[in-house]
Amino acid sequence: MDQHGAQQRIVVIEDEEAIADAVMQRLRGEGFDVEWAADGIVGVELCERVRPDLVVLDLMLPGLDGLEVCRRIQAERRTPVLMLTARDDESDLLVGLAVGADDYLTKPFSPRELVARVRAVLRRAEPQPAPADEAPLVVLDIEIDRATRRVARSSEPVHLTPIEFDLLVCLALRRGAVLSRDVLLAEVWGYDGDYGARTVDSHVRSVRRKLGDEVIRTVHAVGYAIGSA
Ligand code: CA
Repeated sequence: MDQHGAQQRIVVIEDEEAIADAVMQRLRGEGFDVEWAADGIVGVELCERVRPDLVVLDLMLPGLDGLEVCRRIQAERRTPVLMLTARDDESDLLVGLAVGADDYLTKPFSPRELVARVRAVLRRAEPQPAPADEAPLVVLDIEIDRATRRVARSSEPVHLTPIEFDLLVCLALRRGAVLSRDVLLAEVWGYDGDYGARTVDSHVRSVRRKLGDEVIRTVHAVGYAIGSA
């Protein structure tokens, strides 16, 4: 259910039937309306037709691969995408985030983890109330406007995904503090379980790629920070 009590619709684009079945069964059990496409072209058409609230998208698909499917879905209308990947291949993941995926899950994954990710992505997609303190945050030459969710580096706009934006804000609001991966997972992704720290690491890399390596510090064996300790 969304915040107005309507049933939320999810499209699953996955060619492996056993995985698709397991995913759909679990999501239906959670109260979602779920539709399935076994290849990318049908998946894009299905999304145009049913306008889902979220897409669970396999990266490796016959015909049209998941990245191209994600691009086409996003070209039509902004749609939250949770990408499924067969391996933790960083270049694929970074490209996936760049073409508009909101998050990703590496196979094999537990149904519980899938549901947690789906709910976190959907929660993030809901319109957020503007923060009470709307003064832009400034880190080095980077300006973060929380009211408009825009980021600029040396006054040049930089596009961040919603999760990248929230990660940057979370660190910038507690400048100088070192936040562990568990804390970041809880605050940025809304997970309260024991989910992969690699998710945090690859999003940090993606933010650094866009805004410069110096923006986020790695504190060995502890976590990440913005600004000096
Ligand atoms: Ca596949």
